[in-house]
Amino acid sequence: MSDTVAHAGEIIWVIGVVAWYVIRYPFERRAKRVRVVASRRTTSEIVGLAAAVIGMAVIPAIYVATGFPEAADYPAQVWAVVVGALVYASALWLFRRSHKELGRNWSITLEIREKHKLIRTGPYALVRHPMYTSFLLMAVGQAFLIANWAVAAAGLLGFAVLAILRIGKEERMMRDTFGDEYVAYIRQTKRIVPFIF
Ligand code: SAH
Repeated sequence: MSDTVAHAGEIIWVIGVVAWYVIRYPFERRAKRVRVVASRRTTSEIVGLAAAVIGMAVIPAIYVATGFPEAADYPAQVWAVVVGALVYASALWLFRRSHKELGRNWSITLEIREKHKLIRTGPYALVRHPMYTSFLLMAVGQAFLIANWAVAAAGLLGFAVLAILRIGKEERMMRDTFGDEYVAYIRQTKRIVPFIF
């Protein structure tokens, strides 16, 4: 029984990751057509991205494919898979919503595009980094969906490394570009969790 539940959780995770890429792909294609006027892609930026991909895609994918590391398994519970599916689904919704709101201003890394506009609407009215909020929800969803401590830790750690290496630099770049407008925006919003942080 627990094995069936565990497999269900893993299958839902796989569907979630595929959906993640389906949402992202058109934005990656479109982004190629918008000129970049300033880039702050640094080594720490790349390390942050890599940490997120390893913790939230590579390690869980290896686990789903091979069962490694089996020693960190624990018995799967139906309620945890249900919670994980709901959290992951809400993450995907927010991920898509934020991409749509950011539109042509989106970049995978820290870049300012031609005719860059500061977006303060939709999810950006509540938090400055709703896409990173969606990554946090994905990491939490992954932790509930896959009954393995190591996989849960990898996802949360990957998110933490990305957030720590990126948010400060991203906000500095935005402040340098938009000046007082961004300072006012900082006063009105939180970073990742509405009203809290
Ligand atoms: N941190 C945001 C965006 C991630 S995409 C989020 O989590 O939702 C990263 C790019 O988005 C950065 O290179 C920056 O140019 C751009 N960006 C970030 N916040 C923005 C905003 N409020 N308006 C317009 N562009 C923004």
